[in-house]
Amino acid sequence: MKVCKFGGSSMASSDTIKKVAEIIRSDEARKYIVVSAPGKRFPKDIKITDSLLNCYQESKKGKSVNELFKPIRERFTEIAVGLGVEKKLDLESIFQAIEEGIASSSSPDFAAAQGERLSAMLLASYLDYNFVDAKEIVRFSDNGVFNAEYTNDLAQKLLGARESGVVIPGFYGSTSSGRIVTFSRGGSDVSGAIVARAVKAELYENWTDVNGFLTADPRIVDHPKQIPELSYRELRELSYMGANVLHPESIFPVRKANIPINIKNTFEPSNPGTMILPGVLSHERLITGIAGKRGFVSILIEKSMMNNEIGFTRKLLSVLENLNMSFEHLPSGIDTMTLILADSEIGNKMQELVGGIREAVSPDRLEIQSDLALIATVGHGMAYKPGTASRLFTALSRVGVNIKMIDQGSSELNIIVAVKGDDYEKAINAIYEEFIN
Ligand code: ASP
Repeated sequence: MKVCKFGGSSMASSDTIKKVAEIIRSDEARKYIVVSAPGKRFPKDIKITDSLLNCYQESKKGKSVNELFKPIRERFTEIAVGLGVEKKLDLESIFQAIEEGIASSSSPDFAAAQGERLSAMLLASYLDYNFVDAKEIVRFSDNGVFNAEYTNDLAQKLLGARESGVVIPGFYGSTSSGRIVTFSRGGSDVSGAIVARAVKAELYENWTDVNGFLTADPRIVDHPKQIPELSYRELRELSYMGANVLHPESIFPVRKANIPINIKNTFEPSNPGTMILPGVLSHERLITGIAGKRGFVSILIEKSMMNNEIGFTRKLLSVLENLNMSFEHLPSGIDTMTLILADSEIGNKMQELVGGIREAVSPDRLEIQSDLALIATVGHGMAYKPGTASRLFTALSRVGVNIKMIDQGSSELNIIVAVKGDDYEKAINAIYEEFIN
């Protein structure tokens, strides 16, 4: 049995929802369906989740929820009419209850969740599947932290051993007192993985609007090749570094149950997509993919005899801990250590950070370099083939890119380099040419 999650562009209109239904009906194993809220129908369109969040925010400034909710009401009515299910559901009272809920709630989560909820109701009604509300299955603690094990128990009890199909809204759950809480944006992918684990699916199909993961960002590399297969660990590295086909947290529930994920394209269902598998795949393929992010800062800290100073790193890292900042990398030399952090972590606390470091470890020299980009070259194969790093560095030197930092963990799953922001695209293309093209 398979769990299928359909993303926002698949659920965007009655026409795309009919495609979704065709996909579901073409395979009897597709019994558990998780859906996103309607997304964009065309590039300038607004996602329903964004309209709902806007509705909540503006209503808190005193505007009428009824007015703000109008376009949302219209879009769902249009979908319902397009599917011919408008008479099966009492849409008017559903809309009214949502408006009241938004007006009386004190956090945006209730509003944000309604797109998924309505989307699931409409699809369930069109398919004649049962609607199961995510608030009965996905549990958060009172302070909003997702409770994975309790959720799994609940979901197993509620979803297990069903004869007929069910449709479940993605993206949200509730606390034990019934307050709606959402995951971070794109979180329906996580909901799909939760359901897959609970019902012990043979496969988790994640249906989106692309053919799967690409070996590099198509905005940087011209027509990069598709990745046919990758491992959970490769996926984790690539999505952490910016490959954003799947929510990075969706891996955790399915990893526990060894369930493969298949990324598929609703608009090209015959394409095999990308398969994400638990174990290490063939070692023959050296590099699986390249991903990267801009917006990093390095802080070089130099101090004579640093290597002899017991507790130096602890003192340095406690400055970050006190400021609630996480760092990306910490390469070190004998008398130097370099902290690499994302701009977004530092925000406007650079002065505090530098002051804290000076006070904690009294460095002889401290040098800040901003506008760095990190590039991860990922692949299990590199652990079995000498010379991968040398090829990577040669490829970069050939195009005149200076490497600011190198990090390769002993798992030999990836090599991360930092380069100047201006060199980012050139570097990615050079690595792509060397290993993939
Ligand atoms: N609708 C939500 C969003 O736009 C969640 C999702 O689609 O996964 O982020």
